[in-house]
Amino acid sequence: MQRKLDDDDHGRDTGLRILLIEDQRDIAANIWDFLELRGFVMDHAADGANGLRMALDGGYDVIVLDLGLPKLDGIDLCRALRRANRDTPVLMLTARDTLQDKLTGFAEGADDYVVKPFAMKELEARIRALYRRGRMQHGDRLHVADLVLDPLDHVVERAGRKLNLTRAGFVLLEALMRKSPNLVRHGDLAHALWGDGGGDIATLHTHLSVLRATIDRPFDIHLLHTVHGFGYRIAEHANA
Ligand code: CA
Repeated sequence: MQRKLDDDDHGRDTGLRILLIEDQRDIAANIWDFLELRGFVMDHAADGANGLRMALDGGYDVIVLDLGLPKLDGIDLCRALRRANRDTPVLMLTARDTLQDKLTGFAEGADDYVVKPFAMKELEARIRALYRRGRMQHGDRLHVADLVLDPLDHVVERAGRKLNLTRAGFVLLEALMRKSPNLVRHGDLAHALWGDGGGDIATLHTHLSVLRATIDRPFDIHLLHTVHGFGYRIAEHANA
């Protein structure tokens, strides 16, 4: 099973969820088509106000943000996002290739820049680099009781014993541990696993019962708790 995790690791960059905020329909369509073909899960907003609302709703791995947007421009959107403590990496697109724009953008929390016109492959490379950098920053090990998950090395241990999880199990456990001891709703778990593409609740429950068998069944204290009708939470105490 460890080998399986390693094999899957090569594909971990695909399925990245991208929010594209771009008002020029032709540019947006080109980017969408290219990245979707490359395995990204795409979402789009055509103005800054909608873009901010979607960005705040969260669930994106990288935001691709045009600088010049109707309703709310890219700099203001970025500032609002950071003020709301959202640290989703932002790649800004700009036609205005001036130093001042770049400096302003970085000051407001953009992580990288691409100047229009750009090659799609360049855009993809920058997105992947930002995603990896974001993961490094969030690469700290997660702990709940004696359960430990290492997001970078893809290792899960409990009571010092290495556990073999499926890829789905790993994704779900990471999502649950990041919110521990809080509830994670069915919809958010499904989104972590499948993006916006859906998947069904029966399959989700199956993945979670496989996960439970791995992380809880061999141990006295059960950490994964079902909140009927809502979702799941992971915590040392059932009613914490
Ligand atoms: Ca624009």
